[in-house]
Amino acid sequence: AIPLPGDIFPNRSNSAGIDLADPLVREPLLARLRNLETASWYAQPTFCAEESGEVAPINAPQDLRIEIGSRRDSTDEEVADAIRRAEAVQQGWNALGGPRRAVLLEEAANQFEAHSDELLSLCIREAGKTLPDAVLELREAVDFLRFYAGEARNLFGGSFALAGPTGEENRLTLAGRGVFACISPWNFPLAIFIGPAAAALAAGNTVVAKPAEQTPLVAALAIRLCHQAGIPQDVLQLLPGAGDVGAAITSDPRIAGVAFTGSSDTARAINRNLAARDGAIATFIAETGGQNAMIVDSSALPEQVTRDVVASAFQSAGQRCSALRVLYLQDDIADDMLAMIRGAFDALDIGDPADLATDVGPVIDDDAKAALERHVARRKKAGAPVWRRKLARELANGTFVAPTIIEIGSILDLKRENFGPVLHVVRYRSSELGQVVEDINATGYGLTLGLHSRIEGVREFVEARAKVGNFYVNRNQIGAVVESQPFGGEGLSGTGPKAGGPHYVARFATERVTCVDT
Ligand code: GLU
Repeated sequence: AIPLPGDIFPNRSNSAGIDLADPLVREPLLARLRNLETASWYAQPTFCAEESGEVAPINAPQDLRIEIGSRRDSTDEEVADAIRRAEAVQQGWNALGGPRRAVLLEEAANQFEAHSDELLSLCIREAGKTLPDAVLELREAVDFLRFYAGEARNLFGGSFALAGPTGEENRLTLAGRGVFACISPWNFPLAIFIGPAAAALAAGNTVVAKPAEQTPLVAALAIRLCHQAGIPQDVLQLLPGAGDVGAAITSDPRIAGVAFTGSSDTARAINRNLAARDGAIATFIAETGGQNAMIVDSSALPEQVTRDVVASAFQSAGQRCSALRVLYLQDDIADDMLAMIRGAFDALDIGDPADLATDVGPVIDDDAKAALERHVARRKKAGAPVWRRKLARELANGTFVAPTIIEIGSILDLKRENFGPVLHVVRYRSSELGQVVEDINATGYGLTLGLHSRIEGVREFVEARAKVGNFYVNRNQIGAVVESQPFGGEGLSGTGPKAGGPHYVARFATERVTCVDT
């Protein structure tokens, strides 16, 4: 491979995370997390008006009887006031310069590490994440903050000299665009909440951040930690609420750009809002859904395939936009491969996400559960072979969905993304590989694709044709790592640029050229 232009971060490395395999780390952590189980949390707009918006309780997905805090929704006046405040301080924040903004973002990363217990506890209790998933999420959040801080230093510390054949002094400067709205999902309530906001801040924008309505509590804590780190409150504000708050933000003509992660439908609605308003033409960065496939041919190593299929489809209860939805098995190995996958599937532990033995926790809420159950019921009714795990009776108060495997004819039989622990299987003949890739492309999504094959020609064939953002060979297809595996898709899966990649922060900025006749 050819190196990327410019030596980006010679001395940077991602955080070490928390080693759960070490009992001297794990056991005290588990004890501290148990102590936090009774804590109560709240989320409200950074600047609350006297007229208060609706208050909604936040319940734990693993047991809806447990209330872990409450969310106070932002009113229209609070949205307008937040954007006014953010606009008023944006030039000053931009003028601070990249290196000084970097120091504040790095201090925010330090604060996240110093308060890791509370952040982990909230990822588990509010979002239903398992502890290992929560640890990975915290780590990704910290890595985003430090990586984008590095970008602030590299790209926003001064002007770049341009070639001078005109005889003049030509310079290019990157600057913030204005107020950015960051609208984030519940499936990465910390990492994808703070990642886009950190990138927008690094580039000299001020930010109003609306977390998913299901997970405002961890977002509120993250914002408080950023303020504690020295990022001014007007520069980074929280606006909790449901879709109407998002719509109020994106309809405001003072918003210069939107970074959104969530469904393709919501991305379209935001794009329409942005187009319908007066004011500047907004930048729109969207990371949306996927209909992700994995292709397994007869040269693959069965044990490795089993491990990677189960992780890709069922880790995080399948609630990653990168997760495997459709597994293509070459027909001559399909029965044996399915038997092995079902063996591992039958061994998955489903239950309390706080229990370290748990592999699959709950899905986010009742609506998500109902949509998944409807999908499985429809497929059953249509006569598809379906394998389902049984759920223990004590899980009845939570939003658990039994992990499921369904055989279907083609990826094109699926009309929408099924965001949960449901894996579809399709058999194909080796002569049909070209058609398989065409069908995967024909979904219109283009996020992740997995391939298990030891044949280099097969890898080259698929790599040359697949229209996807992230292509994973002989491994699982989830858990992209900041800087090493920049993440994001194309088509229905999003606009790019890739999170944690070398072009991300620049997309939040505008470019200005100065030309001086010397
Ligand atoms: N970056 C995550 C991964 O690679 C997925 C992000 C998402 O679900 O939005 O698994």
